[in-house]
Amino acid sequence: MSRDPIDRAGLAPRYWERKRLDEMTRAEWEALCDGCGKCCLNKLEDADTGEVVLTRVACRLFDDTTCRCGQYEIRHQFVPECIVLTPETIPDHLYWLPATCAYRLLYEGRPLYDWHPLISGDPTSVHEAGVSVRDRTVPEFAVDEDDWEDHVIEEPR
Ligand code: SF4
Ligand code: SF4
Repeated sequence: MSRDPIDRAGLAPRYWERKRLDEMTRAEWEALCDGCGKCCLNKLEDADTGEVVLTRVACRLFDDTTCRCGQYEIRHQFVPECIVLTPETIPDHLYWLPATCAYRLLYEGRPLYDWHPLISGDPTSVHEAGVSVRDRTVPEFAVDEDDWEDHVIEEPR
């Protein structure tokens, strides 16, 4: 088992089943992230229909090997547009949040999947389940934005 890049130590068992999202501590909230990396992929939105599709073109700070943000704590210095997900802002982002995102699942009153690290106890289980984008992305500095549509993918889930 590899080291978990998210600190999930000392959290109460199954706290996400007993607390509302807006009752969680910062540590509990951060630990909900399964590390899939899908929210760090660039999306394309159809201006007419509003339909959002995923590309495999990752944010410039995304580390494809660890499947994590390379500068999470200071990311806004480099990517000011990176969103800050909170219980209050989830509704604004539901139209693009990945179908398996833990924040989305809990907001919609659904359970976490068995491969979620909080349940499996193993941070690699999200990758082994084939749900993450580890080793599947291309960096945005390598692809002209006009060509992103050539890199549209189905969400791995
Ligand atoms: S999509 Fe959700 S669960 Fe996956 S990395 Fe992003 S915030 Fe975490
Ligand atoms: S700044 Fe970091 S957290 Fe935000 S989209 Fe880029 S890689 Fe992901």
